[in-house]
Amino acid sequence: MAGGASPTGMASLVAASDRTTPGATPTAVAGGERSTAMIYKGSCHCGQVAFEVDGELNGVVDCNCSICSRKGALLWFVPRAKLRLLTPEENLATYTFNKQVIQHRFCRRCGIHPFGEGIAPSGESMAAINVRCLEAVDWSTLPIRHFDGRAL
Ligand SMILES: [Zn+2]
Repeated sequence: MAGGASPTGMASLVAASDRTTPGATPTAVAGGERSTAMIYKGSCHCGQVAFEVDGELNGVVDCNCSICSRKGALLWFVPRAKLRLLTPEENLATYTFNKQVIQHRFCRRCGIHPFGEGIAPSGESMAAINVRCLEAVDWSTLPIRHFDGRAL
């Protein structure tokens, strides 16, 4: 975990979420491009926000910071380039707080938070996908990394 200096959780989370044990095999729509990378489909509740994510879902982060605990989100960190919005950008609203470094995106209509966006310490644009918004993902089988975002 990145030590202390990180502003609002997610930046540290990105650093902390380097891929560790594979273990669980994702059960989503097969991508077919690379070995274990898959294409996951996700959406808000009403469907006004829909998206796809490419990658290997090997585990999730359960963060106890002020916003993650309220959302109940289980997070999967991916490069922002791996997230493709299938619905108009305007369907999403953005919430920021504290140092304003993370864009917490949510559906303007149903209020569900499917993902957040931010910049990793490395400078890379990242997205934190709420895996509870993905189709065909059984998160109960995924390794969960508990992150003490509240302590930041
Ligand atoms: Zn919605």
